[in-house]
Amino acid sequence: MNIHEYQAKALFSQFGVPVPAGVPAKSPDEFAAALAQLPEGPVMVKSQIHAGGRGKGTFTDGFQGGVKFCKTKADAAELAAKMLGNTLVTAQTGPAGRKVQTIYFTAASDIAKEYYLAILLDRASSRPVIVASTEGGVEIEKVAHETPEKITKVFVDPAYGLADFQVRELIAALGLSGTEAKNAAKLLKALYTCFWETDASMVEVNPLITTPTGEVLALDAKVSFDSNALYRHPELVALRDLNEEDPKEIEASKHDLAYIALDGNIACLVNGAGLAMSTMDIIKHYGGNPANFLDVGGGASKDKVVAAFKIILGDANVRGILVNIFGGIMDCNVIAEGIVEAVREVGLTLPLVVRLEGNNAAQGKATLATSGLALTPADSMADSAQKIVALVA
Ligand code: ADP
Ligand code: MG
Repeated sequence: MNIHEYQAKALFSQFGVPVPAGVPAKSPDEFAAALAQLPEGPVMVKSQIHAGGRGKGTFTDGFQGGVKFCKTKADAAELAAKMLGNTLVTAQTGPAGRKVQTIYFTAASDIAKEYYLAILLDRASSRPVIVASTEGGVEIEKVAHETPEKITKVFVDPAYGLADFQVRELIAALGLSGTEAKNAAKLLKALYTCFWETDASMVEVNPLITTPTGEVLALDAKVSFDSNALYRHPELVALRDLNEEDPKEIEASKHDLAYIALDGNIACLVNGAGLAMSTMDIIKHYGGNPANFLDVGGGASKDKVVAAFKIILGDANVRGILVNIFGGIMDCNVIAEGIVEAVREVGLTLPLVVRLEGNNAAQGKATLATSGLALTPADSMADSAQKIVALVA
């Protein structure tokens, strides 16, 4: 689960990671009151969307820049009005862009130098890794590609936490000394605690800055949480912004279905994550393109299957459906009854290939065969994939 910059910065503050003062606003009526809470001086106006590259982004009406510097608060209110409700396209949003529904007003800092800092989970070593670079404010992928020697990685032993010698190593890599080094050490420890305590999968600060007086501040903040740990953090779940998520994925999460929208045209309905992955692979193998990942789980009810069908059909790109069920715990006949009910309810006209195998498969196949529905039965993974690819083509 991702959150907005303004929410991430509020979280940073709670953990003692220094950030410039800032206030969000969701409608133009709130601009004046929000700006009044900021200290005198220049203000940054920042579009809040779940995507980076906002500063260099362009709005669909041609207005340039989702992050703007303003000398006065009056200018800030004027620019914010141009951003709010407008759609921002950045390198990370895709061509459709994202509608800006919140503006973050924040004090503009005096920047001495910009750095890059992130903490993420390294799956290869099963450890948090801290990534730091003297090249801040630019895309880290570009730095990694062109000047990989400018990136330092420190792997943290999760049992011991971030050690002082590792903090010193990072500070040395960033070339910091004196007051800056002291402040950076405090920030690093606080950021690590924030990452650890919130079960984050990533905290990214780009840029991290030093000021002419030696302060060290997080000017940008991107935080993602491990969804599997959210049950431990109701306060973080409350930060979820449904405007930023695919409506089909929201609906799926209500039914406890593991669904991820993709950009192909063959929808899949499968039980078990591993089988769902191999189903997508075999569709690809036979020249098709999966429209989604969907795992209905081990013990799906009829209602769940109906909900899954509705979600799949909510995707306008879908030209055919492949149901691939291996009944281990799952009773194939429950799936078959769910399919019959769903197809009747939604009036399905697209090609549908169904492969049922395992527990009570014979009964399931009989239910489908006597339903009178126009569907194509299949016997193996290869058979089912070839059939749906051919039907969609
Ligand atoms: P994005 O990464 O989405 O473009 P950032 O928050 O990093 O958005 O903002 C883009 C750039 O704007 C930063 O690299 C920084 O140079 C500048 N900037 C952002 N916030 C501030 C601030 N509070 N004070 C001064 N400059 C800022
Ligand atoms: Mg940034």
